[in-house]
Amino acid sequence: MRKVAEVIVDVPTMQTDLPYTYLIPDELEDKILPGMRVIVPFGKGNRKIQGFVTAINEILPTEDLTALKQIEAPMDLVPVLSKELLEMAEEMRRTTLAFKITCFQTMLPNVMKASYDKKLVVRSDCPQEIMDTVFDGLAEMTWEDAQTSGKLPTIMKLRQENLVDVVYLVNKKNRVKTIKGFQSLLTSQELMAVKDSLKPNAKQQHLLIDVLLLLDGSMISNKEAQELYDISTAVIKTGQTKGWLNIIEQEVKRDPYANHTFKQTFAATLNSEQQLAYEAITHAVREQKSETFLLEGITGSGKTEVYLQVIADVLKENKTGIVLVPEISLTPQTVRRFKERFGSEVAVLHSALSVGEKYDEWRKIEHGDAKVVVGARSAIFAPLDNLGVIIIDEEHESTYKQEENPRYHARDLAIWRANYHQCPVVLGSATPSLETRARAQKKVYHMLQLTERATQASRLPKTEIINMTEAETFGKMQTFSRHLLEKIQLRLHKKEQVVLMLNRRGYSSFVMCRDCGFVVPCPNCDISLTLHMDSHSMKCHYCGHEEPIPNKCPDCQSNKIRYYGTGTQKVEEELTQLFPKARILRMDVDTTRKKGAHERLLEQFGQHEADILLGTQMIAKGLDFPNVTLVGVLNADTALNLPDFRASERTFQLLTQVSGRAGRGDKAGEVVIQTFNPDHYAIQLAKRHDYEQFFRYEMSVRHEANYPPYYFTAQIIASHPEENVVAKKMYDILLGLKEQLSAQAIILGPTPKAVMRVNNRYFYQIVIKYKAEPHLYEYLRSILENNQTEISKGLKLSVDTEPLNFV
Ligand code: ADP
Ligand code: ZN
Ligand code: ZN
Repeated sequence: MRKVAEVIVDVPTMQTDLPYTYLIPDELEDKILPGMRVIVPFGKGNRKIQGFVTAINEILPTEDLTALKQIEAPMDLVPVLSKELLEMAEEMRRTTLAFKITCFQTMLPNVMKASYDKKLVVRSDCPQEIMDTVFDGLAEMTWEDAQTSGKLPTIMKLRQENLVDVVYLVNKKNRVKTIKGFQSLLTSQELMAVKDSLKPNAKQQHLLIDVLLLLDGSMISNKEAQELYDISTAVIKTGQTKGWLNIIEQEVKRDPYANHTFKQTFAATLNSEQQLAYEAITHAVREQKSETFLLEGITGSGKTEVYLQVIADVLKENKTGIVLVPEISLTPQTVRRFKERFGSEVAVLHSALSVGEKYDEWRKIEHGDAKVVVGARSAIFAPLDNLGVIIIDEEHESTYKQEENPRYHARDLAIWRANYHQCPVVLGSATPSLETRARAQKKVYHMLQLTERATQASRLPKTEIINMTEAETFGKMQTFSRHLLEKIQLRLHKKEQVVLMLNRRGYSSFVMCRDCGFVVPCPNCDISLTLHMDSHSMKCHYCGHEEPIPNKCPDCQSNKIRYYGTGTQKVEEELTQLFPKARILRMDVDTTRKKGAHERLLEQFGQHEADILLGTQMIAKGLDFPNVTLVGVLNADTALNLPDFRASERTFQLLTQVSGRAGRGDKAGEVVIQTFNPDHYAIQLAKRHDYEQFFRYEMSVRHEANYPPYYFTAQIIASHPEENVVAKKMYDILLGLKEQLSAQAIILGPTPKAVMRVNNRYFYQIVIKYKAEPHLYEYLRSILENNQTEISKGLKLSVDTEPLNFV
């Protein structure tokens, strides 16, 4: 009985988005498994491409084998995607309409997608005999050698027994990371004898012998020896020449947190609300119930402490857990708290890691060395078995939705995985998304509430709203109301700290001619260029076009060109003039571009090396600094005017979150919100920290306008270099939709996008609002399928089945 494999090939097109059948070569029978990647011949020219095996089938001896192509070679020793992840990819394909191959690729660390060289290494418990016979006495072999010598099938078997491993060679610098250390060559008796023979003033050598005695034969790294015992490299060298010790170089897995020291923390005694939440969740863990909990708790109410204790319980049950955070670089303090509590059992996955670092973390998880994964959106694909809980912190954040194919939402996949593993999901937030809160209302999710701040002394800050249309400002500096300036002054005087936020959403600085009103546009897009002081240039945020700042008006030649809008840099300059002695830290895309810059800035601020932290919305998240007693929001409402039905919700969330940075210690906090819309409900209710009232009000607004969570939405976007082509196509699609959808569905459009022309392409959209359309996804897929010819001729068509952004 011959076996065949079903393979999804790496050709991301509609026509090839289905499994192809390949014969498995004899020597690889029983070795090729679902979830492995293989090289297969494809197409007329039998081009060699990669693919993922999704299933193995047997074929009858009577079947004709000659028509079947054969798998060329395996690319993995063991499956890189589990049965679970293979099934989840099918769910992703169905709900996001992305190609299957794209879903698979998304689940793996980047290093495994590109064609990096790889080698095979033996693991420490591999018997010498195997090293001798298979590896010619060495500890490693290149992948090519294994393949050409025909040893790959044997090695695949060894990998199944966990005796060998695959290592991707990312680049020369990153290849292997080693630490230098040393180890005694002498017995303790011999060491004692040496010590007796040393001159009393050879202090360093005495110390070295003492340390060697202490180590009792085990190895210590040079760095540790230096830090713990003050042993210099020079004396280690001496020790080597005198034959006391052996210098060793050992390969280490890169640990991105290696340079951090984490002091172990312990569980706090939970307050009664926390205890209730903890008990409900851990009950579901033990009973293996795939329930979804909404943990709605005000900022500082101790949600993270609940997560930590739930995870401790999950580990006690011998299970594993995933914790998603919006963006690791913005939430270093949260990650730190998991590291402090669980040490090396935590793997951290996020975009700022190098490819090599990410692969190492992934391997740690895959080998079962890490049982808790903390990471951003894509950590939902962590190859953990035996999940006991999935936690999504700040569940309302839009970063959980991927804005490119496959457009998945991590929350949906979390619920899918939890169902697979029969474990609970915890969605935590001070300001849950309306969709989530509405589901809790309907008891689809189980609601848990934390209504008070966790530490006795800390209280929610007092908030004031300043109406900027009539506020008194200071001379020419329009950014600050006098009131806010006085409050800053007072904090500086009291040696307390201030956080100032400049909201960049829906807001940018531009250049305008005072004489004729000309604003410099992008030549490729229907939008004005944004001023960038750091590079002294004008940039288009849509297509990346860049040009120098004009010194004359390109239209009327006047030289009265002026800058409008305020960037963080300009605010920083104003602050320096107003408070010459204040130490100011600026945190925005320009000052945080370098790896680790975020963390360094926050650390500086935490150690009170600065008085004022000025930043964009990136400072709103997760900061917990007890000495911050004033938070100022310079422009609360710039995002309110965006043509997106979620504008109020986002504004409310942001204001609540940034307000939560004040008064976390025992000193009372204050918040000042400057706005041009002082009466807007999102601003008024944020002032009162009243999420529940906001939820009720916003629900009535959504109900009135037939928006989520009362309706589901789907969005079709098409673009083409010629406007009439795309407009005509969208009207065709509209006709088809009208025929297909029920009378309940509402179709908006087609309309040009808010910025119609981007990069010389014209963009149109259709938005569908619906309650229940069981065949909608299939129909949307058929639209993509039926337009393949136009797509090959320059039409771009994309579908977002639950869009989060409408601008
Ligand atoms: P959230 O995640 O809701 O913002 P945190 O878990 O960060 O809240 O808690 C806020 C502060 O209160 C932290 O400094 C935390 O260590 C502390 N804390 C949380 N729970 C307790 C508790 N039960 N007893 C004492 N301190 C607590
Ligand atoms: Zn002009
Ligand atoms: Zn542009």
